[in-house]
Amino acid sequence: MIIGIPRETRAGETRVAATPETVKKLAASGKHTLLVEAGAGAMSSIPDRDFEAAGAKMGSADQALGADIVLKVRGPTPEELPKLKRGAMLIGLLNPFDAAAVQSYASTGVSGYALEWLPRITRAQSMDVLSSQANIAGYKAVMIAANAYGRFMPMLMTAAGTVKAARVLILGVGVAGLQAIATAKRLGAVIEASDVRPSVKDQVESLGAKWVDVPYANDEERKIAEGVGGYARPMPPEWMARQAEVIHERCKNVDILITTALIPGRPAPKLIKAQTVAAMKPGAVIVDLAVEQGGNVEGSELDKIVAKNGVKIVGFGNLPARVATDASALYARNVINFLALSLNAKTGEFAVPKDDEIIKATLICENGAVVPRG
Ligand code: NAD
Repeated sequence: MIIGIPRETRAGETRVAATPETVKKLAASGKHTLLVEAGAGAMSSIPDRDFEAAGAKMGSADQALGADIVLKVRGPTPEELPKLKRGAMLIGLLNPFDAAAVQSYASTGVSGYALEWLPRITRAQSMDVLSSQANIAGYKAVMIAANAYGRFMPMLMTAAGTVKAARVLILGVGVAGLQAIATAKRLGAVIEASDVRPSVKDQVESLGAKWVDVPYANDEERKIAEGVGGYARPMPPEWMARQAEVIHERCKNVDILITTALIPGRPAPKLIKAQTVAAMKPGAVIVDLAVEQGGNVEGSELDKIVAKNGVKIVGFGNLPARVATDASALYARNVINFLALSLNAKTGEFAVPKDDEIIKATLICENGAVVPRG
């Protein structure tokens, strides 16, 4: 069989779905050809010769996309779709929430596996691309904030006087938020954090940050806040209003605000109103990690830094692509772990375990049709 690794062509996408390390493992049985598009790793600082040394054959986009198994980071573009082979296995971040895109993948006849839908079970942890990439996004958000901020992060006592530590507020403490806390902590900031899910409080405190509490008015609110499958659910407007009040007060003293709040398949909850931005100190920096899902912050714009009354709102999308080499390395390991359900890298045997819970959860299209979500 041919396993294809095309170059990613979406704007700003620097990652690649395989690395020399994973290519070497997949090529080990000698039964499969690893066909990497020339230049596929360039934006991740992986030269073609490293892929070749690992056992890959370099080829064209048509060859990589026309393989039996196609490993992608992002879903194929309309230009790439006609190059896919009927019956091929397509693995990647296929954006299963976009019904039109899923329909277009289905029409090519591929079996599409969307890694966004990996169940959050222990066995799938090594394949969890959302976690591996959110971890990177959380780190990079702090780096971007520190860069845009016109002051120090740590407290410094110098001969010229004392510099205060930056006060950082992190809203949404999933994988990205936790890494943002850890990274800001390493830089010496004083950190507060909040989330809708009550289970997060202990994690926040164990990282040395202060928990900002938004009280629940009744058991129903508490129940919704617990979320489902590790993910948050939309909160009632009354709780959101209470949260906005609490956060508004905190924001008046904050130097850096990082928002990461997401609800799968829905627009990002708006946590920061324009009036809260207006109440922040001049020189404060906001990084809105949810900008691609509509943003947590009123006024944030995709791939722009917007200045409002001296406050910078950074809305860069796809932060993992800004840490391309490590993002690719982790993504590629996630992919090879997912592929291992079907492909025994040592013997080269290939059989998709159709009844496997992970396979069933991620399959979005097959035999020309969209697979309905069970
Ligand atoms: P996510 O990216 O979907 O959301 C980010 C955070 O935003 C979440 O913590 C969510 O609760 C929060 N949020 C949503 N609405 C909010 C609001 N209105 N106000 C404040 N915060 C809001 O989440 P994620 O990072 O993918 O992870 C969510 C959880 O799943 C984490 O606790 C993570 O540790 C867990 N997880 C478990 C497994 C596993 O068990 N295998 C794997 C990965 C992640």
